[in-house]
Amino acid sequence: MTSPAPRPEIRRISPYVGGESSVPGVNRTIKLSSNEGAFGVPPGAQEAFARLAGELYRYPDGGAEDLRRAIGARFGLDPARIVCGAGSDDIIYQLCLAYGGKGRDIVMSAHGFSIYQIAGTYAGSQVAKAPERNLTADVDALLAAVTASTRLVFLANPNNPTGSMLPYEEVARLRAGLPSDVLLVLDAAYAEYVARPDYDAGVRLVDAGDNTVMTRTFSKVFGLGGMRIGWAYAPPAVIDVLNRVRAPFNVSIAAQAAAIAALAEPGWVEKGRDHNLTYRPILARGLEAAGIKVWPSEGNFVLADFGTPETAKAADAFLRTRGVIVRPVGGYGLPHCLRITVGTAEEVALVVEGLTAFMAGSRG
Ligand SMILES: *Cc1c(COP(=O)(O)O)cnc(C)c1O
Repeated sequence: MTSPAPRPEIRRISPYVGGESSVPGVNRTIKLSSNEGAFGVPPGAQEAFARLAGELYRYPDGGAEDLRRAIGARFGLDPARIVCGAGSDDIIYQLCLAYGGKGRDIVMSAHGFSIYQIAGTYAGSQVAKAPERNLTADVDALLAAVTASTRLVFLANPNNPTGSMLPYEEVARLRAGLPSDVLLVLDAAYAEYVARPDYDAGVRLVDAGDNTVMTRTFSKVFGLGGMRIGWAYAPPAVIDVLNRVRAPFNVSIAAQAAAIAALAEPGWVEKGRDHNLTYRPILARGLEAAGIKVWPSEGNFVLADFGTPETAKAADAFLRTRGVIVRPVGGYGLPHCLRITVGTAEEVALVVEGLTAFMAGSRG
């Protein structure tokens, strides 16, 4: 007897490995493995969520109209050119399924965000990875990887897990070098954390043509990773496609209410950004002082480079004995590195203290 089988390429997909959240036998754990904001859930979003309990029998507004209006007002964008999703992962999946497929391939950079490969393979596309320079996307290599069958190019900017960022001029050069029928997806999950003046999250390129999309999320600085809510800003034709293919009620009533409240939380994003701009360098310098290489990052995390997979593994195990959970990134081809989220002041101090002790021990 034969059993039901998926398309053969499905078995080539390695399931996404998320950040772990507990260590057996350790009471208090400090989770720095998923780049969640340092300050928890915005209080207004918690209240909005609690107020909704009696409404949960109702279907959500499938068009997320109030939320799209709030996002539009906040970012100065036309709500008609916004589509919301159950996290930006949802949007990435829909883009791959709609624009990718067999014979319709995808290009990403070597250490780009892993969901592109998962969703792209699921769609039936071949996913090509372009080499990077100093763990940074290389526009020339991305362009060189494009073939006649390429339909989508994904760029996380800043990128997870490397933290690297391309300035606007480079992203514009990428767009200009791509065929007009290739959809460029700029994943700006960490946009709120970037302070560099040469950065643009993607709005300029979306507005400049009909073939660039920007994705954003409420999972990072807005503190709503558990609610699953993200959005895309896109040209009208892409919005039309997304609205045809997405699940009609993809964003729950609770997610919509929490996101609207998070947008209204006074000073929330500024607080998260300022904290990150203060503590990311403190974390980086602390690790460097301990003898660990730290790659430059524009996100709310750093990539710590231990030189060898063995040292990275031992460092991870050492931190775990102290209840500190960071993210191994071997799945990204970076087994010698650990990705560490910028937590609270206390959490940053604990990581630095832990890795300083580890390095002292591993030298001695
Ligand atoms: C965290 C992250 C996302 C966000 O995913 P959600 O589905 O919105 O939680 C998207 N892209 C990158 C690069 C990320 O790091």
